[in-house]
Amino acid sequence: MTVEEIKESISMPVLVQKYGFSISAAKMINCPFHSDKVASMRIYCDGFFCFSCGAHGDIFDFIRMMDDVSFKEAFQSLGGEYRKPTFSSRMAVYQAQKQRAMRQKAAEREQERRSLNNMLISVYRTYMERSEPLSDVWCDCYNALQYQLYVQAELSGLEARW
Ligand SMILES: [Zn+2]
Repeated sequence: MTVEEIKESISMPVLVQKYGFSISAAKMINCPFHSDKVASMRIYCDGFFCFSCGAHGDIFDFIRMMDDVSFKEAFQSLGGEYRKPTFSSRMAVYQAQKQRAMRQKAAEREQERRSLNNMLISVYRTYMERSEPLSDVWCDCYNALQYQLYVQAELSGLEARW
């Protein structure tokens, strides 16, 4: 089990009761971490807090402090297992990172194409306005503009697909 799985399967009150404490109606117990006569420790469903000495934490902290063990020992005592990352899981992480980088590069290239496209459209439009209609320059710009408008439609089609 992982840390999260353990936390879901064992609540703080259940753990505290396993250690022999009885929880009052106000969800308090005598704090085991200082000499407590008045039940200063509040038990929450996922943790504890002592209003007198300030001891606090989750189920793993409680075991650590009660039994004077490490987190690893507390974790394993509740059925926790450490899983070494396997080669295939490391490959999967590497592939995911690579794909993310490639998607980002592709998005940047799209952005560059879009700004070049917008610039060319405005250049050709300006030249057409300034040149004699149907002159060679005008016709060249007209043809070039049609192509850039086609590119623009293609680029916005790409955007729509995202
Ligand atoms: Zn305390």
